[in-house]
Amino acid sequence: MKVMKFGGTSVGSPERIKNVAALVTKSGEQTFVVLSAMSGTTNALVEICNHLYRKEKTQANKLIDTLEEKYRNHIDELYESETWREKTHAYAREVFEYLHSFTNDIFTSYEEKNILAQGELLSTTMMTNYLTEQNIKAMLLPALDFMKTDKYGEPDQPYIRKKLTGLMDTHQGYQIYVTQGFICRNAFGETDNLQRGGSDYTASLIGAALQSEEIQIWTDIDGMHNNDPRIVEKTSPVRQLSFEEAAELAFFGAKILHPTCIQPAKDSGVPVRLLNTMQPEAEGTLISQETCTGTIKAIAAKDDMTAITVHAGKGTPVSTFLKQVFDAFEHYQTPIDIACTSQGGVTLSFNDNRHRDDIVEELKNIGTVETEPDCCVICVVGDLFSQEAGYDAVILNTLRDIPVKMVSYGASEHNISLLVSMTDKKEALQRLSNTLFYHTEP
Ligand code: ADP
Ligand code: ASP
Ligand code: MG
Repeated sequence: MKVMKFGGTSVGSPERIKNVAALVTKSGEQTFVVLSAMSGTTNALVEICNHLYRKEKTQANKLIDTLEEKYRNHIDELYESETWREKTHAYAREVFEYLHSFTNDIFTSYEEKNILAQGELLSTTMMTNYLTEQNIKAMLLPALDFMKTDKYGEPDQPYIRKKLTGLMDTHQGYQIYVTQGFICRNAFGETDNLQRGGSDYTASLIGAALQSEEIQIWTDIDGMHNNDPRIVEKTSPVRQLSFEEAAELAFFGAKILHPTCIQPAKDSGVPVRLLNTMQPEAEGTLISQETCTGTIKAIAAKDDMTAITVHAGKGTPVSTFLKQVFDAFEHYQTPIDIACTSQGGVTLSFNDNRHRDDIVEELKNIGTVETEPDCCVICVVGDLFSQEAGYDAVILNTLRDIPVKMVSYGASEHNISLLVSMTDKKEALQRLSNTLFYHTEP
């Protein structure tokens, strides 16, 4: 069975929902469909939550009404029969009444997560009702019944496998199974989510749990491009990536994939294919164990990085010093992206800035601390070591008059990462593209 995941733009209008329905039923084979919320919905829900946190009830109610109006129109347009139109309106009415109910209550992250879940609950109900109206045997399997994280906030894969295969056994004989991306339950059984963009992760976890034949991520572009098309002029799709290369690109900012979504697919050996809903015949990108060697595949960039340099106090043994520095990050559960050490000092960069000030305070007990915010890590991914192309020299030469604050090379065979200031990001990405892919001089 294939798992097909459709992002927000792919289900962004009644017409697109109909296109997706045609795509998933085309082969006539049993298919598992994972959907995001319709585009703009999760952002609108985040905005509503921000008003509710600030007790701005009037503004929150206004946004809820605007969103409801949009859905009313979508539902009117999507269905042919009064029965299914009314059934779906009734569901949406409940959702919007539920959203309005929060404007009278206390508001915490618990309430926020329940609100953020509504986008995927709406899109999947709309799709399943539409497929059923079209006489397709479709079954909605609620993600909240099988998708779960553990006490560390990581997906509980044995639980997911057991619950999902159990549900599939109970509900046999359907052509299409539909579920919500993004949403899950946490270790306390509360509604939670896999972070923004998390529907890709849901698809990969389901593909791994079901040992599916392929996980397809359908979006609004024809696969992974060799650079960020939102920033760089002229980019081209990459036809083939290894799991490791794709995981590096996702982790270092290629928005087309959620940062951790490749891992479950890789662990279970299920290939991932990136495809374009707007151009279904385009080849896209295949991510698997195979890759072609000897080339640079793509460049990605991750924003909002902070670099912190700590110089050890006098008399502290190096090993103790390093342990204390890493402990400070561990205490605030803040992952480090790049680390460089030198005699008596260490520089670390990270992009989870929630506890930055606390970490700096703790590090001040260990030595002198310098902080540099507003940085960006640029990551060049490909087969860097297999031949004598000297990519490291080419990359550094291309950026020769852009201040590079850190370089990480060697920890992975697939990537070289460089920290630059956010203000140099666009120029650095463009120049690397020109040199590495289109062979024009820097
Ligand atoms: P979805 O809503 O389908 O999950 P996303 O917006 O999350 O889609 O991801 C697709 C977008 O990722 C593209 O429209 C593109 O602008 C952006 N993107 C950033 N880097 C890349 C890249 N290297 N290759 C392809 N798309 C990229
Ligand atoms: N709807 C969620 C978001 O906008 C999850 C996703 O689209 O993957 O982040
Ligand atoms: Mg996405």
